[in-house]
Amino acid sequence: APDDADCDLVVIGAGPGGYSAAFRAADLGLKVILVERYAALGGVCLNVGCIPSKALLHAAKVIDDAEFFADHGIKFSKPKIDLKKLEAWKSSVVGKLTGGLQGLAKQRKVEVVTGKAGFTDPHTLNVETDDGSRAIRFRHCIIAAGSRPVAPPGFDLKHPRIMDSTDALELEEIPKRLLIVGGGIIGLEMASVYHALGSEITVVELADRLMTGADADIVKPFRKIIDKRYANIYLKTRVVSLSADDKGVDVEFEGDKAPAKDRFDRVLVSVGRRPNTDGLNIEASGLSLQDNGCIAADDQMRTAVEHIFAIGDVIGQPMLAHKAVHEGKVAAEVIGGEKSGFDGRVIPSVAYTDPEVAWVGVTQEQAKAEGLAVEVGTFPWAANGRSLSLGRDEGVTKLIFEKDTERVIGAGIVGTNAGDLIAEVALAIEMGADMHDIGLTIHPHPTLSESVAMAAEAAAGTLTDLY
Ligand code: FAD
Repeated sequence: APDDADCDLVVIGAGPGGYSAAFRAADLGLKVILVERYAALGGVCLNVGCIPSKALLHAAKVIDDAEFFADHGIKFSKPKIDLKKLEAWKSSVVGKLTGGLQGLAKQRKVEVVTGKAGFTDPHTLNVETDDGSRAIRFRHCIIAAGSRPVAPPGFDLKHPRIMDSTDALELEEIPKRLLIVGGGIIGLEMASVYHALGSEITVVELADRLMTGADADIVKPFRKIIDKRYANIYLKTRVVSLSADDKGVDVEFEGDKAPAKDRFDRVLVSVGRRPNTDGLNIEASGLSLQDNGCIAADDQMRTAVEHIFAIGDVIGQPMLAHKAVHEGKVAAEVIGGEKSGFDGRVIPSVAYTDPEVAWVGVTQEQAKAEGLAVEVGTFPWAANGRSLSLGRDEGVTKLIFEKDTERVIGAGIVGTNAGDLIAEVALAIEMGADMHDIGLTIHPHPTLSESVAMAAEAAAGTLTDLY
């Protein structure tokens, strides 16, 4: 390590991975510099990802809930949507969180440097700041530069009518007819938002199903709901071309049931993300990139260069904030001399759509493909009192147990608040709980959480109560 180092650790990128790593390292007594190219801390998640999307999804839920009661005894008038005000509320939520991060950095004496970082040698970064370039000599580095949306070649994301997720979160207008290209979590969440705001939604997906990571039977109840709400869902279909003008976008499709051509007011392209590793002058660090642009890291988050670590979206799938946070803490602890490692068996995935779809651990399809002997307990929410009282009985809770040990190894949940419910199963997997532990745990009545206990009881053969 260089004697003239400016810090023990420099972190590139102040997203959830980067700030968690910087804060943990500072708490362990290291001198830390956090470099972020944007003035606002928080990365994609806080600024243009998790948080603004969940704020808008909540607004969507309020509208949907009000509509539900129109047929059940409470009639509101049609919502008048003031996009400017809604946008301002969303931004205020984001602002509270990103502003809070500045304070947390200050408290811990983490120096925040605003500017774009690139390597000049294995122990030096060059940062292009507003006041010119600054060299930072470091003992250790954590690369947490995150990711950005990709578009297929020829899709002009610069055209205002062709949006990526960042544009779609900005709520410029409510398009009459909106095409969502890509049936993954991000596209389907934005579909939920724009549908509630009044857009007619069409979804097109190359694969033969939506949300390919989850078991098909868990996605099905969600699919049933959106079949009623959305104009079209085209699977096994490719968008061949998009050509946008001032008033709309002409789209050519190739696939199963889609027409050869159609026209939309706007198109959201959400087909995947690529790591921000191309702007780092990475060769100067001694590292090389994988074919997909990601950086390889081991379970201590160490790269091929011993004193350089990589975490979060830059090391690949699953690209999720909570994964980045945990990896960031591991990297900081390893650098701080602690015994730490990342074990990613239990990384929950959640689509905050309406209804929510969540899964964790081993899926049933994965178990089958890997030849694991499993026992499955399923509980349909139509027999859960709370879901009936919410007017939402389409949900399903499914737990997957290892046959020999009866330990829970995975779960899939679809329904209202599935994203919150999955956390209980994540803990159960981590603690090595079996079906009896879960089934014998007294869950509060009436709650959706009872569906978890009842799925376990269904597997154990002890399920009696239906309420
Ligand atoms: P990022 O958050 O991408 O942060 C990287 C930071 O590095 C950025 O601030 C960037 O400006 C900075 N940077 C990059 N290069 C440089 C450089 N050369 N110099 C200086 N700074 C640099 N995940 C969830 O878990 N739950 C969700 O609900 C969820 N919703 C999402 C919704 C949307 C619309 C999107 C797009 C993503 C969502 N995600 C969600 C994914 C989540 O946002 C990412 O997984 C997470 O932000 C990754 O964190 P990170 O720290 O790796 O990188």
